[in-house]
Amino acid sequence: MSAISKWLRRLLLLVVIAVAASSVAFYLLYLRRTALPPAAPHAIVAPFIASLPGLSACWIETGKTFSNFSFGSTAGSILVRHPAGDLLIDTGNSSHFDDEIRGYPFGTWFKLRFLAGQLKPEVPLSELLHRVKEDPAKLRWVILSHAHLDHSGGLMDLPRVPVLLSQEELQFAVDPSVQAKGFVIATHVQKFPTPGSPTLRFDPQPYETFDESADLYKDGSVVVVPLRGHTPRQRGYLRESGSQPSSFLRGRRRR
Ligand SMILES: [Zn+2]
Repeated sequence: MSAISKWLRRLLLLVVIAVAASSVAFYLLYLRRTALPPAAPHAIVAPFIASLPGLSACWIETGKTFSNFSFGSTAGSILVRHPAGDLLIDTGNSSHFDDEIRGYPFGTWFKLRFLAGQLKPEVPLSELLHRVKEDPAKLRWVILSHAHLDHSGGLMDLPRVPVLLSQEELQFAVDPSVQAKGFVIATHVQKFPTPGSPTLRFDPQPYETFDESADLYKDGSVVVVPLRGHTPRQRGYLRESGSQPSSFLRGRRRR
C-alpha cells in the first residue's frame, strides 16, 4: 500500500469520527433540548401604572444573533420615560465595533469579531431612539448594568450624556488586564466617569431582598440594586408599576 493511500485512509477515518461526534453533539445539545413551556397569557399584558403618570418603559433592540437557535443572543437598551427626565438602561454594542477592536492580538480579535461582534447594530442607537421620538441629547442619564462591551458600546453612538456607574465598576473597567482580554473596550471607557468620581452610590436602604439600593428619582419608580458576580458591581433594576408587583429588569445576558 502506498504512503498516500495510507494517509488518505487516516484522513477519511478522522472525517468519519468528526462527523459522528458532531452528529451526536447536535442530537444531544439541540434536538434533545427541553423546550421552555409557553408563556402565560398575562406575560404580554403591559403593566398598569396608576401612581406615576407619564412613566413607561420600552425595549429597543440594537442587535441579535443566532435567533433561530436556542443559544441566540440579543443586545439593546431599555428606555424609561419619566416626567423628571428620561433614562436609558444599557446601550448594546457600538456601530463602530470593527474599528474599535482593530488593535487586539489575532486570537482576541477573532473572539470579539465573531462573538460580540455579531451584535453590532446595523442602525446606530441614536437613530433608533429618534425613531421612537426620543431625543438622545435630552436623556437625563444612561445607566449601565455593567461595563462589558456589549452593554456600553452604544455610548459611542450617543451624544455626551451623564453615565451612572459605581466606583467598583469603574475600577473594573479601567483595569488593563480586563481591557486586554477584550471584556471592556478602552474607547468605551472614555465615555465613562473617571474612577475617582463615581456617579452611582448605593444607600444602606434595603429593598425587597437586597441590603442596599439606589432610588434614582427618589420616588420609587426606578430602584437600582447590586447584582455582583458577572462583573464586580453588576446592577439590576426594579421598576415600580403602581399597585402591581415590581417589574424586574435585569441587565445580564449570556456574556
Ligand atoms: Zn457581560
